[in-house]
Amino acid sequence: MNQLSRIAPLGLTGAAVLALSVAMLHAQATNSTASASPAKVELLPGLDRQLIDISADPCVNFYQYACGNFDKLYPIPPDRSSYGGFSVVHDYTESILRSLLDQAAQVSAQHSTLETKTSDYAANEQKIGDYYASCMDEDAIEAKGLKPLQPELDRIAALGSKKELTDLLAHYQMINVGAFFGYGEQQDFKDARRQIAVVDQGGLGLPERDYYFRKGDEAEKTRKQYVEHVAAMLQLIGEPADKAASDAQKIMTLETALANASMDITSRRQPENVYHLLPVTKLTELTPAIDWPKLFADTDVTEIVELNVANPGFFKGLQSVLDSTDLDTIKAYLRWQLVNSIPEYALPKALSREDFNFYGHELNGQPEQRARWKRCVAGTDNALGMALGQVYVADNFPAANKAFTLQMVHDIEAAMGAELETQTWMSDPTKHTAETKLHLMANKIGYPDRWRDYSTLTVVRGDALGNALRAADFENKRELNKIGKPVDRNEWEMSPPTVNAYYDPSMNDINFPAGILQAPFYDPHATDAENYGHIGSIVGHELTHGFDDQGSQFDGYGNLLGWWSSDDRKKFDAMTDCEVQEYGNFTAVGDVKVNGKLTLGENTADNGGLRLAFNAFLADAKRKGIDLDAKQDGYTPIQQFFLAFAQNWCDNMRPERLRLQVQTDPHSPGQFRVNGVVRNLPEFGKAFGCKAGQPMMPANACHIW
Ligand SMILES: [Zn+2]
Repeated sequence: MNQLSRIAPLGLTGAAVLALSVAMLHAQATNSTASASPAKVELLPGLDRQLIDISADPCVNFYQYACGNFDKLYPIPPDRSSYGGFSVVHDYTESILRSLLDQAAQVSAQHSTLETKTSDYAANEQKIGDYYASCMDEDAIEAKGLKPLQPELDRIAALGSKKELTDLLAHYQMINVGAFFGYGEQQDFKDARRQIAVVDQGGLGLPERDYYFRKGDEAEKTRKQYVEHVAAMLQLIGEPADKAASDAQKIMTLETALANASMDITSRRQPENVYHLLPVTKLTELTPAIDWPKLFADTDVTEIVELNVANPGFFKGLQSVLDSTDLDTIKAYLRWQLVNSIPEYALPKALSREDFNFYGHELNGQPEQRARWKRCVAGTDNALGMALGQVYVADNFPAANKAFTLQMVHDIEAAMGAELETQTWMSDPTKHTAETKLHLMANKIGYPDRWRDYSTLTVVRGDALGNALRAADFENKRELNKIGKPVDRNEWEMSPPTVNAYYDPSMNDINFPAGILQAPFYDPHATDAENYGHIGSIVGHELTHGFDDQGSQFDGYGNLLGWWSSDDRKKFDAMTDCEVQEYGNFTAVGDVKVNGKLTLGENTADNGGLRLAFNAFLADAKRKGIDLDAKQDGYTPIQQFFLAFAQNWCDNMRPERLRLQVQTDPHSPGQFRVNGVVRNLPEFGKAFGCKAGQPMMPANACHIW
């Protein structure tokens, strides 16, 4: 699978449409047979004084002060496009996962032909062991070559007319081949108790629609490299060079037409823009070339009367594309989409390397592919994340971490309650509904209460590609099976080892996987000040998402209802404008500025998160009698709090990666996640003795929450 499927907004499930995470997703596509022993990875302490650049002035550039030595101590490894505080925790977790997968692979090798495991835990351990071992068996993958792919290629070759597309596209949706459009399940935005089908724009190989139209040398270079990449992949699956080159051009034309009918990522942040509950008959009117009732029936989804056609304009455009494109070009496009969607680790080396060359090297600036074991750890997590998580948390998530996080969540909720209380611009009815929403917000910590049942998924040792396709089919069936059923509040959108967190507006819940509840985010040896700065600001970030420009449109029950008075909403929009302006003026790389509108929700969450964590820390200090003037290693508790917060976001990026992030990701780059936030909190300037008018203590500070 190319890494874009992990960055691009997919919009396949309700949570995928709008789940709001704390960190950008680690996007890595790589390959190398060299399985060199990994450097010893250690977690960072709660506050790492080595990272501090004491020659910098915290009032001029706090990011430089808190993180100035990070790049010297942690240079970007050649198999990375960026490296930051989150990467250190990710590497540490990855090495643990590697050990437990090696162990599971040995255990499952002894048992796989002898018996069927009975307990869920043992059965899941066997599945992850077999999946990982099959992925690691590069010789077997190489020896099989294109053979495992041949039935799929034959199926494309056998297409006799465009009329036969429906069955093939239904099959593709089940195995994660995103040709032409996306299809899945989501909670109904306007009735969160209902789970409904959704179809959405899709079918692109570049990160998002603007990549097909943006002007300038960099954008043109990327498009040229993309067409060359498509041609190279087609050639590697057997097309003669001439035909591959001309097909790649035609595929670019086809995808550009799809992009032209697509909505840009900033517009897609407006929930109303991606919600159109329509009868299936209307979808058939928009795209009659696809037999929609048959497609749904093919995927075992029956009796759909209405669904969310997220972007109706796209499906009208899709009809024109299907009308105006000849069958031969459609077949070439399907071959490309097929080979681009299959996880690269399951493909022969030449294809995997070419996939890395475009998505990893050219688009992200990454010099080297990641070692195979790293890609196999990530691949197993993608395919069987809850089985892997069940084995991971058994030994790697102390009960104390859960208890601490729960206390932190309660402290942050109390801080948000107090924050709402003090808002003078809000009318009482709006304020009351906001308080209700806060009280209804649920939290999930560490891992699910009930583990996923993978018993219907067959993992065959030695069949890496088959395993990947069956795992995709299993997960898509599981998702689609929710349609028409009551919502399961036990569902997680991230696996337990994930070093990230999210808020889901339809569930109105905040979620913290076990992976993020480790040092330095939560460090049992750190001071309270440091832990509130680290994990406290992250808990605050997720909670604030419930009240950002997007999350605030959903009520406490997860429904997209206008619960704000129009007057209050106007005032809120004016306050958010302040942040749109502030961040929109930050230059990320070369001529590329941060997109203030795209990043508004994340910036609001960062700002609210820090304020809530700060106020929660003050309450904690009062409760425990912490002396706020007593310095430890040269820093007061409040200074420690701000330093710990800033060190969450120490990050170095290669320029290509930075450009990609600013153009596709709703999170601002690390330095702005620090400087953009502390400058809005006067308590920061006070703690570091800044003077009014200095860069970190400006007159035009923004304050939403
Ligand atoms: Zn976020």
